Amino acid sequence: MLPRTGAIEMGSNLITAENLAAGYRDKTVWQDANFAFGRGEFIAVIGPNGAGKTTLFRMLLGLQAPLNGSLEIFDAPPRRGNPRIGYVPQRHIIDSDTNVECLELVRLGLSGKKWGFNPFSHGDHDAAVLALEGVGASELAHRPLGVLSGGELQRIFLAEALVSKPDILLLDEPLSNLDLRRETDLLHQINSVVRTRGVTALLIAHNINPLLPHLDKVMYIANGKVATGKPSEVLTSESLTALYGVQVEVLRDPHGNVAIIGVEEHHGDMV
Ligand code: ADP
Repeated sequence: MLPRTGAIEMGSNLITAENLAAGYRDKTVWQDANFAFGRGEFIAVIGPNGAGKTTLFRMLLGLQAPLNGSLEIFDAPPRRGNPRIGYVPQRHIIDSDTNVECLELVRLGLSGKKWGFNPFSHGDHDAAVLALEGVGASELAHRPLGVLSGGELQRIFLAEALVSKPDILLLDEPLSNLDLRRETDLLHQINSVVRTRGVTALLIAHNINPLLPHLDKVMYIANGKVATGKPSEVLTSESLTALYGVQVEVLRDPHGNVAIIGVEEHHGDMV
């Protein structure tokens, strides 16, 4: 049996899925997923490339319908452009000559959610200033995006996603291309948003280890299946063997880091 979260209590969860299947017209990417995430939970979404992690985010954002089963956010099907969901997409490179100021980008996080022509107000300006402050990036307000480091950029994207005060935060590989110190800093920042504001954060990552001190749950997608639960339930030899359908060993070092042995290619960085 794959681990799954306990009984699904309606009303107390922000996200619930029952027998959910994801995919595209002619192909199922994963199926039979059951999970429930409550307010203020920090969840890592991991699995090999092509497993269907981004497809999950597309469904949560209302950009793609489930192939089967049900998915509810705030007790209703996901809908496009919901301001209660903050999204940080994968963004790789910003040209060094991009001279849009950080504060402007963060304000766009508000304007993107408005209908029609709606010039920025003082309220928007103040909200953007507060959002930057909230991620410890006030000093970057008037810096052009093009001159920022990878870690600073991720902070600004986080502020942009948080400016509308969402209840759910979806982060697509925010840690890629960050060195260890910046990765640790950003994770602390995200964790503090989760703990102090009760935001539910789902974060796609390749390496689970830096996340382990902060996580409430892991959603592991592989081989067309999904295992969800506490890290101690999902990251076991038994559960990952059931998920992958081949013998997998999960080893732990004295610091609690896990190494997943038996599935080639994608997990080299987890060892
Ligand atoms: P991950 O984020 O885990 O790397 P994705 O969710 O991007 O995986 O993709 C899951 C699978 O769905 C992959 O096999 C990918 O090729 C396929 N896929 C992604 N987008 C589309 C699409 N628009 N049409 C058909 N197949 C797609």
